[in-house]
Amino acid sequence: MSTIFEKIISREIPAHIVYEDESVISFLDISQATSGHTLVVPKKAYANIFEMPDDLLAHSIKITKKIADACKKAFPLQGLNILSNNGEVAGQTVFHFHFHVIPRYETSDVSFKFTNHMNETSKEDYKKRALQIKEAL
Ligand code: AMP
Repeated sequence: MSTIFEKIISREIPAHIVYEDESVISFLDISQATSGHTLVVPKKAYANIFEMPDDLLAHSIKITKKIADACKKAFPLQGLNILSNNGEVAGQTVFHFHFHVIPRYETSDVSFKFTNHMNETSKEDYKKRALQIKEAL
């Protein structure tokens, strides 16, 4: 079944894309758990890590490191979480494998309950954060 990420990849719906190559795309999470929260998504749809081919997974984590380095340059972060939820029981809501890149500014800035932060982020904030990452790449 097609997910929202496939619609972003095919440009059916918009996203704040910060990086793209032949097999991976990266864009801001619509719900910014912290400023700069970014997703790294293989373009070919595999539901979870268990289905991911090793070579694509290796490329995906390499790009995840690239985005982490860009966030470290772009934002005054103190740390950073790399996270992948696999399966509903593990909190996965979009069943197209992806890594979360989550800059950390203080220990209490993320609850990891993934509550909705959409209405805390203005259009300008999305644009600015995406630009900061793109310029730092
Ligand atoms: P997970 O719960 O680990 O499967 O992560 C899915 C993530 O996708 C959530 O953090 C959502 O906020 C994010 N998300 C859902 N729809 C969109 C969208 N249209 N653009 C960007 N991020 C999205």
